[in-house]
Amino acid sequence: MAPRAFLVTATPPTTNGDLHVGHLSGPYLGADVFSRAQRMLGHTALYASGGDDHQTYVVTTAQRLGLDPVELAARCNEEIRETLALARIDIDAFTSPDDDYRADVRAFFTDLYRAGKLERRTWTFPYCATTGRFLLEAFATGHCPECLVATCGAICENCGHPNDAGSLLFPTSTGAAADATEPREVEILVLPLEHHRERFADFYRERAATMRPHVLRFVQEMLARPLPDFPVSYPAQWGIPVGIDGFEGQVFNVWAEMLPGLRVMSETARARRAPDHRGDVWAADSGYELVQFLGYDNTFYFSLAHLGLALAHGGLLTPTAIVTNEFYHLEGSKFSTSRRHLIWARDLVGKYGADNVRFHLALDNPEHQVSDFTEAAFTRSVRTRLHAPLTALAAALAPHTGRPAPAGPGTTALLDRYRDRMRRAYALETFSLRQAAESTANLLALLAARAEQDPALAAEGVRVLAEQAAPLLPDLAAALAERCAAVPRGTVPRLDGLISHPL
Ligand SMILES: [Zn+2]
Repeated sequence: MAPRAFLVTATPPTTNGDLHVGHLSGPYLGADVFSRAQRMLGHTALYASGGDDHQTYVVTTAQRLGLDPVELAARCNEEIRETLALARIDIDAFTSPDDDYRADVRAFFTDLYRAGKLERRTWTFPYCATTGRFLLEAFATGHCPECLVATCGAICENCGHPNDAGSLLFPTSTGAAADATEPREVEILVLPLEHHRERFADFYRERAATMRPHVLRFVQEMLARPLPDFPVSYPAQWGIPVGIDGFEGQVFNVWAEMLPGLRVMSETARARRAPDHRGDVWAADSGYELVQFLGYDNTFYFSLAHLGLALAHGGLLTPTAIVTNEFYHLEGSKFSTSRRHLIWARDLVGKYGADNVRFHLALDNPEHQVSDFTEAAFTRSVRTRLHAPLTALAAALAPHTGRPAPAGPGTTALLDRYRDRMRRAYALETFSLRQAAESTANLLALLAARAEQDPALAAEGVRVLAEQAAPLLPDLAAALAERCAAVPRGTVPRLDGLISHPL
């Protein structure tokens, strides 16, 4: 198979807090395992993300905590970087917006505007005199016009459908009295998504095999009705000022900013991982395949808004795959920073070690359906499906350590089956953290059960597991590989003392 090149992104996290376990189980772990696996298979993979500092949620959280939003974002960027490193997320770039970033974003939209791809629209925004803010994003609360749940402005976390000042039901100004608003007309910049309808339909027909089913269903729901205009600018102070005449007092919609923003982050990743590649990896002809990992609630932005911007631009990569995850709940309800119903990723990883956490989050991954984290289920699965078989395997092989145990053809065939299943779990079209963890746990259980009768299978099985499970369990795989390398091939390695965080 010819080597492929993948540009992998995980949604830039809002820098109003550190990552909790729900965040970690989603795009950050998925994109990491995918990128590591592609490199293991001989392909190139760049993994990029960065702090999403210009979200209005940074402002509302800073206000709640009595902090300066600039300081809050800077602190959270550092915390998130540390947490990713603790969880062994091998990301090539996690950048924060700087002056060059802001200039690139502004240039991207100024060019689109000059090329006639963006249009002026007069929108009516409720304006809150108490807070001095227009009701958008985190500054607005109400109910989703699609699925009716309570939501903030712009996007519904529950169904993923967009809303705006005109469609959000019962809008109120966050942190102010319900009757504090008055309507004001503002001329903003929009991308008319309806103009791209035919190309969206063709695009998702052609790429159906590499899109998660929930993405296809969402796009069908959206295409069943007229597509909305996507606001590229809005009246707010927090973000990147538009800098085009007639749009004073406006910044770029932070979700529009994300597309050129990811392009800047990817350039940093390229400089680190592929310094010999010439030119923009985000150019349509770069040879890279774009693979985007995101929580389902961000689907609208990636599947239609960003794709619409890329089609309007005409020279940009479009996603080969959009890999969504569903919500990961905690003890039966949503993770919530404001209600303090959460477990910080750094606390869980600090207490139990990165590999144990990665193993369980993969095994229990909310890849197609909501899943539920409990610490009891976590310790049970790690103890019974990872530690117990490893301990049994080490004990069974101990008397054979250093002895020759050459693998027969039956062993080779059995382990090829495992290798095939892992390749399928790591492949773009069939990527599945659950399958990778499940197949690895099943092999481990088999090796432990058969080790006494068949030390050759156990010895060779451990060698293959060390190679195939490395994207998922990097530390354990490295330790196993080291033990295997310490003896000649076909010899039983020493396997005691491999569990770094016993439960
Ligand atoms: Zn909804």
